[in-house]
Parts: sequence; C-alpha cells; structure tokens
Amino acid sequence: CGIVGYIGTKQAQDVLLHGLSKLEYRGYDSAGIAVFAEGSVTLKKSAGRLAMLAELVDGPDRLEGSQGIGHTRWATHGRPSDENAHPHQDNEGNFTLVHNGIIENYLQLREELIAKGHTFLSETDTEVVVHLLDEMWTGDFFDTVIAVTKRIHGAYALGIMTKHEPGKLIAVRKQSPLIVGLGEGENFIASDIPAILEYTRNVYILDDGEIAVLTADRVETYDIEGTPTSKEVYEVTWTA
Ligand code: GLU
Repeated sequence: CGIVGYIGTKQAQDVLLHGLSKLEYRGYDSAGIAVFAEGSVTLKKSAGRLAMLAELVDGPDRLEGSQGIGHTRWATHGRPSDENAHPHQDNEGNFTLVHNGIIENYLQLREELIAKGHTFLSETDTEVVVHLLDEMWTGDFFDTVIAVTKRIHGAYALGIMTKHEPGKLIAVRKQSPLIVGLGEGENFIASDIPAILEYTRNVYILDDGEIAVLTADRVETYDIEGTPTSKEVYEVTWTA
C-alpha cells in the first residue's frame, strides 16, 4: 500500500518512519522497515499500527544505517500478520524488497521456486519476487531486476536492495504509482509525494514500466528493456 526508500547520510530509520506516517491516510494493516549497514540488512516488521513498529526500533533496538526501505501493507494475499508484513527477504538474505500491488502468477512461480529448494516464510504473493531475484541472480543487480520483471505478471511498485551491491536501491513501477525524490547527497523513493516532502520538493514521477537506479549521489532511469530514459524534474509547489 505505501512504499518509502532512502539512501544518503541521514539515519534511514527516521526517514522511513516519518515517510510511512505521511502515507497512513491510505490505510494499512501492518508495517515494516529494513535498514542496510556494514554488509548486513536488519528487518523489523509488525502487524498493526505504525506505533507498534516504532516501538520495535526504539532506544537500544534502533536500526543504525543510512540506506533502507519501508512499507505499510494493505493485505491482498495472506492475512495481516508479522510474517506477511513487508519487507520480504530470500532465504540467503541476499535481497530485501517491498511491494505494492498484486503478482498475478505467484502460485505458479511459488511452486516452481519450492521445487528449486526455496522455503517460503509468508503467504504473500510478494514473496515470490524476492526468491526469484535470488534464483535468477546474474552477477549484476540491474540486469537481474530486468530479468525478473519479465517473469512476473500483474501490478507492482517495487523497492529493492541487495547485499551483492550495497549503496544502491532499485525501484520499479508497473501499474502502481511510484516517485523518486531528488536530494543532495541523498535520494528517495515513495509511492506518494507527501512521504518525502519534508526532505525535498524535486521529484521524478516514474512512468509506467520505468525503473530507477538510485545511489546517494545519482539517479538513473530506464525503460523495462533497460534503455536509459530522460526525465524532467517536477517541482512540488504545494504543502502536504
Ligand atoms: N499483495 C501484497 C500483499 O498482500 C502487497 C499489498 C499492498 O499493496 O500493500 O502483501
């Protein structure tokens, strides 16, 4: 339902929790964040209100790191629960992702991946995507994402990070809204503008079928075949 992603120099946890709170108006049944620091990704997620998630990462349990993704879930496949909350990870913990929308061919993909030895930890349609990323790993993050988008059908906005390539976030938009926020030495992704307005007014509105590759200093956009696209910066003039 709601997606926020951050890469830069601030504490990602603060940006993610703030951004998710600005997306609360859309409704949700669970929430979670994942923060990447020093080669490892820590996941915290919970059914219920954002306040419950905030408690899990409070004080000594704070997640340190300046790269991360967060999600508020509106369940479509699998009941609201801690396990079904996003972000999701493959069994090796190589990929971490958040997803809005529905993966229509998930049952078939799930069977195929189980036959290949993957263990599913949730009931969501989303989880097939993260196992597929691990299964189809080519040695290159961007190429792997392109390959995976050719296997999944349906509507999706994805925010993805991988231990294979720290310092990078990839966002994919297919029939589910997604924007990129452009900062200085930091960049953002979000399913809606209010999530990032506190930090920047300069955004790219991704087109359907567009992919964005973010580092702290750079944002590149591509079409679904991997051909670079050129974007105009949209300046937000209103206040949330
Ligand atoms: N279909 C996914 C799920 O049920 C994502 C739902 C959403 O957009 O929040 O977990």
